[in-house]
Amino acid sequence: SDQASLDPKIVSLWEKCAVNENNDKENFQRSFVRHVTTTLARSVYNIDNFSAYQATAHTVRDQLIKQWNETQQSHTEADPKRVYYLSLEFLLGRSLDNALLNLGLKENFGEGVKDLGFRMEDVLDEEVDAALGNGGLGRLAACYMDSLASLDYPAWGYGLRYTYGIFQQRLNDGYQVEFPDYWLNFDNPWELPRLDVTVDVQFGGSVNKYTDEDGRVRHVWEGNDVIKAVAYDVPIPGYGTKNCINIRLWSSKPKRQFDLGRFNAGEYEQAVQEQMQAENITAVLYPNDNHMVGKELRLKQQYFWVAASLHDIVRRFIKTGKPWSKFPDQVAIQLNDTHPTLAIVELQRILVDLEGLKWDEAWDIVTRTFAFTNHTILPEAMEKWPVPMVAYLLPRHMQIIFDVNLFFLQKVEKLFPDDRDLLAKLSIIEEATPQFVRMAHLAIVGSHQVNGVAELHSNLIKTTIFKDFVKFYGSEKFTNVTNGITPRRWLHQANPKLGDLITEVLGSKNWLKDLSSLNQLEKFADDKEFKKQWVTVKRSNKVRLAEYIKTHTGVVVNPNALFDIQVKRIHEYKRQFMNILSVIHRYNSLKKMSSEERCDVVKRVIIFGGKAAPGYYIAKLVIKLINSVAEVVNKDESIDDTLKVVFIPDYNVSVAEIIIPASDISQHISTAGTEASGTSNMKFVLNGGLILGTVDGANIEIHEEIGDDNIFMFGNLADQVEDLRHAHRYRNVPIDPALQEVINDIESGHFGDSRIFSPLINTLTIGKDYYLISDDFGSYLSAQNLVDEAYKNQDDWTRKSILCTARMGKFSSDRAIKEYANRIWNAKPCST
Ligand code: PLP
Repeated sequence: SDQASLDPKIVSLWEKCAVNENNDKENFQRSFVRHVTTTLARSVYNIDNFSAYQATAHTVRDQLIKQWNETQQSHTEADPKRVYYLSLEFLLGRSLDNALLNLGLKENFGEGVKDLGFRMEDVLDEEVDAALGNGGLGRLAACYMDSLASLDYPAWGYGLRYTYGIFQQRLNDGYQVEFPDYWLNFDNPWELPRLDVTVDVQFGGSVNKYTDEDGRVRHVWEGNDVIKAVAYDVPIPGYGTKNCINIRLWSSKPKRQFDLGRFNAGEYEQAVQEQMQAENITAVLYPNDNHMVGKELRLKQQYFWVAASLHDIVRRFIKTGKPWSKFPDQVAIQLNDTHPTLAIVELQRILVDLEGLKWDEAWDIVTRTFAFTNHTILPEAMEKWPVPMVAYLLPRHMQIIFDVNLFFLQKVEKLFPDDRDLLAKLSIIEEATPQFVRMAHLAIVGSHQVNGVAELHSNLIKTTIFKDFVKFYGSEKFTNVTNGITPRRWLHQANPKLGDLITEVLGSKNWLKDLSSLNQLEKFADDKEFKKQWVTVKRSNKVRLAEYIKTHTGVVVNPNALFDIQVKRIHEYKRQFMNILSVIHRYNSLKKMSSEERCDVVKRVIIFGGKAAPGYYIAKLVIKLINSVAEVVNKDESIDDTLKVVFIPDYNVSVAEIIIPASDISQHISTAGTEASGTSNMKFVLNGGLILGTVDGANIEIHEEIGDDNIFMFGNLADQVEDLRHAHRYRNVPIDPALQEVINDIESGHFGDSRIFSPLINTLTIGKDYYLISDDFGSYLSAQNLVDEAYKNQDDWTRKSILCTARMGKFSSDRAIKEYANRIWNAKPCST
């Protein structure tokens, strides 16, 4: 009706604007100059690379906004079932190159930039990463948004607009030092501030009861603190489609600017205190990966975010005029891990307290709306919140959680009478002092589907952490959707030379929409000319990385050496420690060889990268050990350049885009059963890098797809882990002899003051080797030897590399999103 009442003149102008302008080189350049002189208010005589980036970004942004508007307009008209992806992290990285590629503007705009005297690489390099995430979980959300857009789903992401993203990592004397990531320092052209779209979110206060005209007891929550959520929209363009979806990020602002009373009384600092406290909520991303920290501010972030998002989702639904019973047919909400679990409670509160629905009717709507993705079975990552903290911040939510739990346990009791033990195990409340709310339990009870992120992980959750829920619900409630990655960013954009080669030989860019068509590369695996081109591309990516390493670490590495890479968050379960211990073993072996013997050795460059959570002492010591070993090895001329060790600082998405295409072998060596999926493993293999991995997470499915000959697997299996840990706990299991030698070497002070490293060594000895490094060390070294042997046959290695890429079709995030849409959301594409 709003549309109909618009002045026809405006409508006609709008329609003219909506028709895509000709995005040729000349139009681009006109827009570029216009943005320099108007948006940036600069002189055309004074354009540096950063202004060139900004002007290009603003030109692309104009296109994005048009597509965004058209998409949202058409979704409003078609009113399809919508998908909402709630994620506390979106690790988007840079946007310009991605938008240029997805919108099909790269060629014309690239020429336009060049023609004006700039190098496109330099212009792209000016962009700071949007690093609103820690690692795999946040990057998964970003890949999923790309696929949702590319597959034409009417989807929105909801998250927080942190003022500070993941910290920047620098090294000082080999130690990690953290610096704030103030990514909004300059203008951010990739967000559209919606200063008029706000939601008041309340905290604290009390709950009052009253009886309504139907005689029902109703509850009113009156908070004593109100914070304003302001929307910032980030358009996400699909590839090869006009669909442009949205990530709505909320920023916290004070409800009132300052306390006028105090201001007038001259108490200026106190007058603005409230404002500062409000802004604190979305100030920083918590820098923990797979680790729960029970800080009140984090709980406030979670509620602030879900309350604003739910309000927005409900408002959009109410506008359609449909009855509440239709809500689950119109809305699917996916919970990315337990972080947004309070959304379940918030929707129940909205329906019962505000909309007046009966409890059971509301709960039926809630449970048909939500689905929950579990990302880990690590005990230290399980979210639980003290009941007193929840009750203090969210008194009505705590009541609702108790009621949900009561009704749930009554059903359990009916099915399993007298099984008190089962009730305690399934309860949403952990009976301790104080009591805790188990968020995973709440997420399961409030969702219609629960999924793990790789086959092994999805099976493990059914047999370990959630096995009692399977007893109650049956196994149908639990499913698997193996993670995926977007080939647009992780091949086309990160590895343009390989992308071009593939497009040339396959005759089209269709593989970017249908990754399984890469299997046509198989027939070129023995084609001499093609293999030569393949090798040339890999080598040029290695040269690019070698240059990056030289600039950022000062270490000179040989691009002809085998590049062996482990980049990911530093975590004990990911076992970078085992890797560096094996590097010491390799170094010692090289030192024992004669120079003739060393001539036959495959030269290796071993590359590490990744951030440790600032409070994770052991992980930070691993970084120090890697750098201490690197210092000794890299300056030891006696080993004839056969080994170099590098720690690349500040690993993030744009650094990953340089590292991943240059890999010969990458390591994904978590203790079996600990890595839910991993996604960088997929990225490396898609780029023709082989992997050395344990039988864990998605490594297993990658192995199934690419075959025994093209992967190096080792180590104990997940079902052996418990027995091995038990043995360490209760018997004196001897340490692997090769590992003992390495330990002795560290303790001898070969890599600096050994006392520094004793807490680390103690995890293997006194600490019972929880991650089973000693148990896997022998098979790890054997697998490393197989890698060396295989690399000596360069021709066969190239064949393996081609087959790796050819067989990775399954791991496109497009496949994963289609599975979610068909099996969990019941959502259909809706093209613009
Ligand atoms: N961090 C960044 C910056 C990434 O780009 C990725 C994946 O590509 C990850 C973390 C996740 O890595 P992994 O799956 O090895 O844990």
